[in-house]
Amino acid sequence: MTEEQVEKKPVSLPSQLTVKELSDRLDLGIAEVLKKLMENGIIANLNDTIDFETAYIISEELGFIAEQEVIQENSEIFTIENLKKELQEEAKEEDLTFRPPIVTILGHVDHGKTTLLDTLRKAHIAEGESGGITQHINAYQVKKKDRLITFIDTPGHEAFQAMRQRGAAIADITILVVAADDGVKPQTKEVVKFLTENKIPTVVAINKIDKPEANANRVKQELAEIGLLVEGYGGDTPFNEISAKNDTGLDELLDTLLLVSDIHDFKSDAKKGAIGIVLESHKDPQRGPVATILIKTGTLKVGDDIIIGKIIGRARSMEDYTGKTIKEAGPSTPVTIIGLPKSPESNDVFRVETNKAELKRKIKQFQGIDNDSLVGLMNLSSKQLIRNIDETKKTKLSIVLKTDVQGSLEAVVQILQSLPSDEIQIDIVKNGVGFITESDIKAAQSGTALVYGFNVFPTSIATRIAQDSNVKVKSYNVIYELVEDIKNEMSELLEPEIKRTDLGRMKVLAIFKSGKGQMIIGGKVNDGKIIKGEKMEILREKIHIGVGELVQLQQNKEEVAEVKSGLECGITFNGKEKIEVGDSLLCYKEEEIKRKI
Ligand code: GDP
Repeated sequence: MTEEQVEKKPVSLPSQLTVKELSDRLDLGIAEVLKKLMENGIIANLNDTIDFETAYIISEELGFIAEQEVIQENSEIFTIENLKKELQEEAKEEDLTFRPPIVTILGHVDHGKTTLLDTLRKAHIAEGESGGITQHINAYQVKKKDRLITFIDTPGHEAFQAMRQRGAAIADITILVVAADDGVKPQTKEVVKFLTENKIPTVVAINKIDKPEANANRVKQELAEIGLLVEGYGGDTPFNEISAKNDTGLDELLDTLLLVSDIHDFKSDAKKGAIGIVLESHKDPQRGPVATILIKTGTLKVGDDIIIGKIIGRARSMEDYTGKTIKEAGPSTPVTIIGLPKSPESNDVFRVETNKAELKRKIKQFQGIDNDSLVGLMNLSSKQLIRNIDETKKTKLSIVLKTDVQGSLEAVVQILQSLPSDEIQIDIVKNGVGFITESDIKAAQSGTALVYGFNVFPTSIATRIAQDSNVKVKSYNVIYELVEDIKNEMSELLEPEIKRTDLGRMKVLAIFKSGKGQMIIGGKVNDGKIIKGEKMEILREKIHIGVGELVQLQQNKEEVAEVKSGLECGITFNGKEKIEVGDSLLCYKEEEIKRKI
């Protein structure tokens, strides 16, 4: 029996496995498997991971027919629901310690949420940090009486949407901002309904009390009418009268937050592996995926393996909200982590996994679903490599995209993803809901990206930085126009189409001079005309020999621009290929034609 006729033994293999695991599955010595890999140009050691395609080829050559193991889609992704449950269960534990309260700010548009967040960030940030903030992430911490308060810095309606999505899982206390000159407005009502229904600890901040027309009592009265009773108005919801703009009453507001925090006794187990929520993430061209996360419980340490949704990675380095590198972060701390293989989604829940066996099992479980996420931990699979190579062949158009609401963000992203181009790839280096801010410009600057806003505009600081750093910022309020603009920018990056027009043909009758890369030739134009400065194709017996350029043209020893059919001429031809007597030279014009997506 020849080798081919030996029946191959079936073997079932996972989509990724180590060389050692492969040798175990094939029941062959490790040396034999390594040798076969080497014969195929793969120098591996026994702990290296190979993908199914590679394992298939190797096992086939070793007399096996491999089929891929079917792995059940998992339902083990840690969700907000899991997080809530975990926090509820934890609340019963004994060795819990105090943690800073996490505060979010909600209220009607223009009532001063952004101003309040800005003033707190500028004037009340934990001492010694204010000068040192080098970045603007979506959360920061304020120090009051040596105690920290964490603020989630997502102003505008986005905060409310995020809150709705995340539920009470993220913030402990909400500041409801109501402008004293404007009173209760539709969004105030919407927020109050949500807060009361979900029993979320609330502090009312009656803002703009510096304004002459301010009327705090009217605000209290109107709040009472919609079921939110503040202290002194038949209820126990604390309130402060403030001017976010003038930094009036903010110290008192912080005291109130600490008081509410004491009443609710926010605690957590700082000893366990961290669990929390992704506030924002983007891909930094230099640092790769960067995620801002808020730790709800436990402590996150550099080097911890983490699972976020379907992404498994490692916190390779960590920064606090000021941009300072830190080694670990406890409960209620916002941190930026670098080192994930992929950007997670906002609101994804992350969790440290300390059990290596469990982590390995998860990797196997998730790998069928999302290979990308494993790159950080495992060797590149051949498929991944091919994909990366393919992607690098494409030219990238990098953009930062900001929109007014999540819905429009999703819509625009979806349209952009559906724009067909084999050559240009849109790389959204950062996206989000809200104004175009300084950090957007910085993200664009480091990624040489364009900044697009849909129904949102740059803040004045962002405009200034964009001008200083030559970052193009464009805002649209019609999706179609925004997409058209991006398509135009993509078109600019397309290699132009080369259009060739044949002009004429001459027959080579004599070679006068043959130098290196240049020849002087005599011949007769027998079709169309030949034009100085255009290209020439050498044809011998109708076979393409090469191309060159007609640099000089003479007729009757005089320099001319063109020579028509039927006339003799002398030409200087620049080109690599040698022309012979009897060749045809085809004169043609090449034009670059801009292409459009
Ligand atoms: P948001 O839409 O709730 O984030 O509101 P902003 O913070 O953008 O504020 C809207 C406008 O109100 C801006 O022009 C602010 O300068 C102004 N503003 C905010 N707080 C105060 C305040 O305490 N006093 C006064 N007079 N104006 C304020």
